[in-house]
Amino acid sequence: MPSSVDRSMVCSRCVMDGATAGITFDAAGQCNYCSEFLARWDRLSLPGRRDQSAALAEFVGQVKSAGQRRTYDCVVGVSGGVDSSWVLVNAVRMGLRPLAVHMDNGWNSELAQNNIANLVRGIGGDEVRVAGEPRIDACDAQVAAQEAWRTSAHALAARGR
Ligand SMILES: [Zn+2]
Repeated sequence: MPSSVDRSMVCSRCVMDGATAGITFDAAGQCNYCSEFLARWDRLSLPGRRDQSAALAEFVGQVKSAGQRRTYDCVVGVSGGVDSSWVLVNAVRMGLRPLAVHMDNGWNSELAQNNIANLVRGIGGDEVRVAGEPRIDACDAQVAAQEAWRTSAHALAARGR
């Protein structure tokens, strides 16, 4: 393992470069984060089933079958971000009838709310927003955590750290 890394190097597989903390590169130019991810991915793959598409199709078939007499056959959590939006769109593409569920913790941006509304309208689906009491608790917890962080940051600053 090299003692210093060329800060201008970029991984041959991802976008991380030599300025990333703890990064190393192998002889092929692949970073240690990619190598570690790929090693874990092999273990997470369904054992004995290398054809992930077939496994996904089988799972989707089970969901459709279980929900065939229901209005929705699955629930997809949506935040308004790219990842959950992608899941929702692909669920519909695979023939599922998802109910989009959005947890409103009181910190949602207007953009995220609009993204969800536009997305759900675009797929011709329905959305449920869950708020109410949990919203107050989540906000209180986040405000308390921020206040605790500020207090400890001030205490460390006062001690010269
Ligand atoms: Zn990489």
